[in-house]
Amino acid sequence: MSPELAPARLPQVVILGAGYAGLSAAKAAHRLGGGRVQVVLVDRSPDHVLRTELYQVDEIAREGTAHRQWAVPMADALDGRVARFVQASVTGIDLSSRSVRLDTTTLPFDGLVICLGSVPSYFGIPGAREIAQEVYSLSGAERLAARLRDMERAAARAPAPSRPRVVVVGGASTGTEVAAEIATADWKTIADPSAPTPEVLLLTGPLPLLQGFPEPLIRHARELLTKSGVEIRENTPVVRVEEGRLTLKDGSTVPFDVCVWAAGVEAPPVVAQLPVEHGRGKRLKVTPNLEIADHPGVFAVGDVIEYANPGSGVLVPGTAQAALAGAPVAGHNVVARLLGKRLKRFSYHEKGVIISLGIGKGIGRAGPVSLWGRPAYVLKSLVEAEYSLAVERG
Ligand SMILES: Cc1cc2nc3c(=O)[nH]c(=O)nc-3n(C[C@H](O)[C@H](O)[C@H](O)COP(=O)(O)OP(=O)(O)OC[C@H]3O[C@@H](n4cnc5c(N)ncnc54)[C@H](O)[C@@H]3O)c2cc1C
Repeated sequence: MSPELAPARLPQVVILGAGYAGLSAAKAAHRLGGGRVQVVLVDRSPDHVLRTELYQVDEIAREGTAHRQWAVPMADALDGRVARFVQASVTGIDLSSRSVRLDTTTLPFDGLVICLGSVPSYFGIPGAREIAQEVYSLSGAERLAARLRDMERAAARAPAPSRPRVVVVGGASTGTEVAAEIATADWKTIADPSAPTPEVLLLTGPLPLLQGFPEPLIRHARELLTKSGVEIRENTPVVRVEEGRLTLKDGSTVPFDVCVWAAGVEAPPVVAQLPVEHGRGKRLKVTPNLEIADHPGVFAVGDVIEYANPGSGVLVPGTAQAALAGAPVAGHNVVARLLGKRLKRFSYHEKGVIISLGIGKGIGRAGPVSLWGRPAYVLKSLVEAEYSLAVERG
């Protein structure tokens, strides 16, 4: 009797991170790979998180959770035929043995796509990591929402009426959106019928408010923020965070009830440790194929990369829009490398940028057209709704 032949193992493509980039890369890898590769998608979260929605901390405070609206169970986001999902934390990536260490096991790979996103940058400022709140993760946004609700309830019950103060550090899109949202939220229905409107102070560091936006839109943003009650102080770098107060570079202090840290992001530690070429914030440098130089078959995409657009040399922004544009290229290329097919090059064309500035208001540009007020807000809501629907459909 002839011995039974073991079935040949399919080449294994491992995709780390199931956010905007990872989920989309998995789908692209499956499209090209068909039954010829096994795609494995790893994330520590059981859900695909719609991170772009997390500035809506008032809605999270109202619901008591962000899960209901902005976390899509992986089983719904990922048709089981596309990839095998492994829920685990990535603790190390070994490029020489071509394996990934998870908290549960070790996973060998033939092709790899790193899509682990980003974490807040604290720039070594004492107390910032420990004391300030953040909205870059679902758990962070939920903690911030709970703190704001408790702050408002405490202020409503205080014997002497006073307005609590929220300080938001960081004047790019995330900080600006969060500041406007907190200032315009209806805390009376969220927290307590006697809840006061909080004072909101937005501090920018060395970079000006909303750097990169056209000047007329920044003027609109400034007006909208001021009308909403957000006080903006520019070029006021923070050097220390302590319970209840910030110290600025000029030595002055700013008291707060809640401090929100929105001063930017960097690569997660597991990526920062990789012995390859890094850019700002330890992001991974990649070739135009989104591959890591000298490591054929290892690709990266999303917030985790630093990549200058071919031709213009302008850095591709760390946005969901850019992650979703690059991911199909990385997902295609990781399989193409294994099957000996042509690799694609990534070139980014931004469709537009829109930010929300409190309920019903926003600013943005779509192609050459500038938008502000309600039309900008409606367009942003439509873009968000379209993406959520696409994910929920799998
Ligand atoms: C409040 C806010 C508003 C924003 N608004 C916009 C917007 O309007 N438009 C826009 O284009 N962009 C926006 N962005 C930016 C956008 O969210 C990011 O650029 C985008 O999420 C990047 O996608 P990604 O797939 O690279 O990372 P992510 O979407 O963050 O996904 C990374 C995944 O990796 C997983 N992961 C990380 N580390 C590990 C580990 N060690 N082990 C296992 N899993 C791990 C995470 O759980 C996560 O699922 C916003 C960001 C924030 C915070």
